[in-house]
Amino acid sequence: GRGVAVVTAVVTRLATNRRLLEETLVPFRLDREQLAAVQVQMQEAMAKGLRGEASSLRMLPTYVRAVPDGSERGDFLALDLGGTNFRVLLVRVAATGVQITSEVYTIPELMAQGPGQQLFDHIVDCIVDFQQKKGLVGQSLPLGFTFSFPCRQLGLDQGILLNWTKGFSASDCVGQDVVALLREAIRRRQAVELNVVAIVNDTVGTMMSCGYKDPRCEVGLIVGTGTNACYMEELQNVAGVDGDSGHMCINMEWGAFGDDGTLGVLSTHFDASVDGASINPGRQRFEKLISGMYLGEIVCHILLHLTRLGVLFQGQQTQQLQARGIFKTKFLSQIESDSPALRKVRDILQGLGLSLTSDDALIVREVCQAVSRRAAQLCGAGVAAVVEKIRENRGLEELTVTVGVDGTLYKLHPHFSRLVEATVRDLAPRCKVTFRQSEDGSGKGAALVTAVACRLAQTPRI
Ligand code: BGC
Ligand code: MG
Repeated sequence: GRGVAVVTAVVTRLATNRRLLEETLVPFRLDREQLAAVQVQMQEAMAKGLRGEASSLRMLPTYVRAVPDGSERGDFLALDLGGTNFRVLLVRVAATGVQITSEVYTIPELMAQGPGQQLFDHIVDCIVDFQQKKGLVGQSLPLGFTFSFPCRQLGLDQGILLNWTKGFSASDCVGQDVVALLREAIRRRQAVELNVVAIVNDTVGTMMSCGYKDPRCEVGLIVGTGTNACYMEELQNVAGVDGDSGHMCINMEWGAFGDDGTLGVLSTHFDASVDGASINPGRQRFEKLISGMYLGEIVCHILLHLTRLGVLFQGQQTQQLQARGIFKTKFLSQIESDSPALRKVRDILQGLGLSLTSDDALIVREVCQAVSRRAAQLCGAGVAAVVEKIRENRGLEELTVTVGVDGTLYKLHPHFSRLVEATVRDLAPRCKVTFRQSEDGSGKGAALVTAVACRLAQTPRI
């Protein structure tokens, strides 16, 4: 009778919804072959970038030639710009270990995207505030500046900003030496002298801070607001830097991988929407598939699509999901954590003003899983390319190496790190890779780069 008809209708609707969901998520499910292809393309782009040929990987020399040897000592100032917050740190490197005191300052979006002078004036104001708070006024400590954007370095203390990434777009900075911009702001503010010794990418800082404890650490990886990696390359392979022996750390700027179209086949129309709505369309394509600034946006676009298909929220379009930046990437971490998962999903979405059934909650979780899984696997394919490159460079049957990692997505997401590691094991079976999470890589690392530079400046070179 009627009861049966109703049940049949419900079952049919569920089956249809399931099929529509699967169809939507299929392009996010990468198989081994696709990941292996990404690894190969990455290795090719690395080789080209190193030779100075056209490549979406810039492979920037950092002038960091060695990981710390543990004999570094002293007090250093460090700045950390390029993540969610701006930080100023005092780093004491002593025989007993490294001690850090720091303050967090916000960079309002208006400042990140306004006139460059204003941004650098604000940075100097924060430093002055820090010096006053910590009783450091009048001391000119050597300073390391972690500046997490692509820079063409001509030495340790010189870096020309090539382009902004993430949420930054301050004017009159691209093409300028960032250290000079900082020094000019210091002059404008007539603030105390600062002794800027080094400009450091956050990947390099992370590698250095892990290298302090583990000399096998020759790769740095960040998966936070943005994503990137660095590693120790043979100097003879680096075009444009003199010297044939020894090593140099290379900032890959892998966020830009695929900006030449290489990743086209992998990217979905959801990715295209996220890219189109960003402040740098067409750029940082790899980053936009992986990092924290974008995953929530991808999920949001999928949820809107599923709502339009009638699979979610009973097809009721909501204003809430249309707003950009509403679905924070930290929600993915929370939604995917094992327990009490579904209640959490409901809380989060209800917090956004959406009402949902338990079917909806399950679907939302599946969407989050598909997006973060793809991100982790792509990141793993990248790491596999890097460690294989190091192994091949050295002509080794087997390489043992440590990757220093930092970034909120990697550290806070319940499954991300496991998936990265599994992918690396699968794609680079001849490399024994240990992942080591850095504690405050950016701050400590900048201080250590500065410390190594100061040590080398004092010891006459033989
Ligand atoms: C920047 C890199 C940085 C990475 C992680 C990217 O957007 O271009 O320089 O290392 O974010 O912070
Ligand atoms: Mg950071």
